[in-house]
Amino acid sequence: MNLKNIALTVSFLILLSTVNAQSHTKVIAHRGYWKTKGSAQNSIASLVKANEINVYGSEFDVWLTSDGKLVINHDPVVGLDTLVIEDTPYSELKDLKLVNGEKLPTLANYLKKGKECKNIKLIIELKPHSTKEKEDNLTQKVIEMVQKFNLENKVEYISFSLNIVKELIRLAPTAKVFYLNGDLSPRELKEIGCAGLDYNSSVMKKNEQWFDEAKAIGLLINVWTVNKEDEMHYFIDKGADFITTNEPETLKRIISEQK
Ligand code: MG
Repeated sequence: MNLKNIALTVSFLILLSTVNAQSHTKVIAHRGYWKTKGSAQNSIASLVKANEINVYGSEFDVWLTSDGKLVINHDPVVGLDTLVIEDTPYSELKDLKLVNGEKLPTLANYLKKGKECKNIKLIIELKPHSTKEKEDNLTQKVIEMVQKFNLENKVEYISFSLNIVKELIRLAPTAKVFYLNGDLSPRELKEIGCAGLDYNSSVMKKNEQWFDEAKAIGLLINVWTVNKEDEMHYFIDKGADFITTNEPETLKRIISEQK
């Protein structure tokens, strides 16, 4: 190898190491971007505001009402904690207001607006319900609605329920599905057909070897809910593909500072 070639090789290796040092971590706004004026958790405003700040995805939670409607809310109960969503018909829920004044959104409202939000993926969390029958019904209805809106390439699915995760993979085999509950290894998730793991930050700190294990078998890694700057740095350095946060602008800044 002559001197010129050695110089070229060295330059190439330096360039390669610079590229590798750059963070590839993407930001997911947890329950939308809600810590900002006029917004609220799981509101349509939070979805629009996540789109405005150009994050990778906006996460939200879906429940099935007793009469089979799909609504967006985090907790299992609404209306000053008096109405259990899965036991209540939609007619009793439809006029409830979020803290920003919006009505409790339906999945149809959400997907309609989500389709206009060109910058972001829609990260749909399907909540565990009290019976397998309800969970299966929820899963089927969510997938059908996503298909109806032609949003198959814009959504990713997450759930704490292993039953729902398996149903999602069975009914939408090309969709990206992540498991949230933290009790299965990357290898077990790969066997089920998950795209990756989406685990609590404390679970990933206790099982640091899962970062390398997941990467070695081609699984993606998402960590939640990471709101402190030192933890953001930690998981970016660990090579997390996604971080789900209530502080999407802070995380965006930290990632951009690393580039
Ligand atoms: Mg959620």
